[in-house]
Amino acid sequence: MPFYNYECVSCNNKFEAFHAVNDVLNTCTKCGEQTIKKVPSVITATVRDTQRQQAGDRVKEAIEENRRLLLDAMDHNKRDHKP
Ligand SMILES: [Zn+2]
Repeated sequence: MPFYNYECVSCNNKFEAFHAVNDVLNTCTKCGEQTIKKVPSVITATVRDTQRQQAGDRVKEAIEENRRLLLDAMDHNKRDHKP
């Protein structure tokens, strides 16, 4: 299901909703007023999610790399101490 951003004109509540393309959400989740408008940010949200995913992958890679280097260093130390 697609992802939509909504903004309430009445209380400025910004919220996200998942619903079918043909469905229309018109009630604010906070104040219950039917004064919300759809914010066209579906593409932006998708890009942001992709970037977050990539950033997460990069962090994971960095952690893996550090662990490898640490294990390597420990290996060398062991060898140095036990000739
Ligand atoms: Zn509202």
